[in-house]
Amino acid sequence: MPGPGMCWIGKEEMDEVMDVMSSGYLFRYGNLEDPAFKRKVYTLEKEYARYIGVKHAVATSSGTSALMVGLLAMGLEPGDEVIVQGYTFVASYSSVVFAGGVPVLAEIDESLTLDPNDIEARITPKTKFIMPVHMLGNPCDMDAIDQIARKHDLKVIEDSCQAVGASYKGRKLGAIGTMGAFSLNIFKTITAGDGGLIVTDDEALYERAFALHDQGHSPNRASVEIGRRNIMGLNFRMNELTGAVALAQLRKMDRITSTLREKKRKFKDAIGDIAGMKWRKVYDPDGECGTLLTVIFDDTDRAQRVAAELGTKTVSGSGWHVYSNMEHVMNHLKEVGQPHGYGTLPRTDDILVRAINLSVGVVDAGLGSAFGIHINSADDEIEAAAEKFREVALKEA
Ligand SMILES: *Cc1c(COP(=O)(O)O)cnc(C)c1O
Repeated sequence: MPGPGMCWIGKEEMDEVMDVMSSGYLFRYGNLEDPAFKRKVYTLEKEYARYIGVKHAVATSSGTSALMVGLLAMGLEPGDEVIVQGYTFVASYSSVVFAGGVPVLAEIDESLTLDPNDIEARITPKTKFIMPVHMLGNPCDMDAIDQIARKHDLKVIEDSCQAVGASYKGRKLGAIGTMGAFSLNIFKTITAGDGGLIVTDDEALYERAFALHDQGHSPNRASVEIGRRNIMGLNFRMNELTGAVALAQLRKMDRITSTLREKKRKFKDAIGDIAGMKWRKVYDPDGECGTLLTVIFDDTDRAQRVAAELGTKTVSGSGWHVYSNMEHVMNHLKEVGQPHGYGTLPRTDDILVRAINLSVGVVDAGLGSAFGIHINSADDEIEAAAEKFREVALKEA
């Protein structure tokens, strides 16, 4: 039971897919005037851009490709440094590396997102981008990050892959930076199995992103336009079947987030205050996805014992989300002469070893959220999970 969108796959997704299947045409481009062409990816891009509140969206094969396309569209050149937090999914780093850049690790704060106070210390003459990652459906401190970016003339690309549908002070995440990337993988808020989107308000960046994701073509081509392609691209296109599922999921988005927020509130209230434990900081409680409830204990041993007894792990033990757990990324940073390995980010290490992610909508052992509730949990299940957590947390005090 990975993400909430997957739990709600139903007739709407089937109808959209059958619409494509019965047309017999699965490629994203076709004649927009022809009713036999179902234009699901085209429609997804329009509806997604409207939902996020930006002018343009490009649908991609994954969140990883969306990030890479975004970085290249924004002009990343070989050796450019990208400041990104030490607690994120591996794709935040690999997309930078494959785009030719160098990820530079920075600390998180108690929101488990990029600590704005640690950014300036990481800036060098090579720094070109900041990649705040809205981890666990929770917005970064975007006002502070935006201020630093302006002061140092850096561009911001928001990794919103885990925060589809979340917002910060009334603006959807992904719409605040110069570009924003999203994922439709099964562990995310809404899903099409795999898939992604990259969004922007900037016309020129949109055209560049479009070209990069499709062999240099301009948006919504009818055929191959020889002599009109200025930049080289690759193929990170979405097909109509994926677009069909994504479209049905997008239309459920607000219902998913409102349901998650309500279940999270019940879960949190039922757990209540526990001495020696706090909730993670949330920069906009009205805007988070509500996919996870994260607690931070004062005491490391207690956090370890509580996690073990609940059959889960502290965040430090979760897989490819903690910088020092990613051996391939650490090897790469070593090769390019960047700080790497456990201990590089002492504040991050200290927070993650005391933190436990409780699932609300994303049940993922790889994220450390093997214990908790899910989007379809009834009130009695929520109360039982809260009671169990309370009992263990108090016993291990
Ligand atoms: C999932 C995820 C990605 C990558 O998305 P994919 O669609 O799996 O390629 C990037 N960044 C973060 C923070 C993620 O959680």
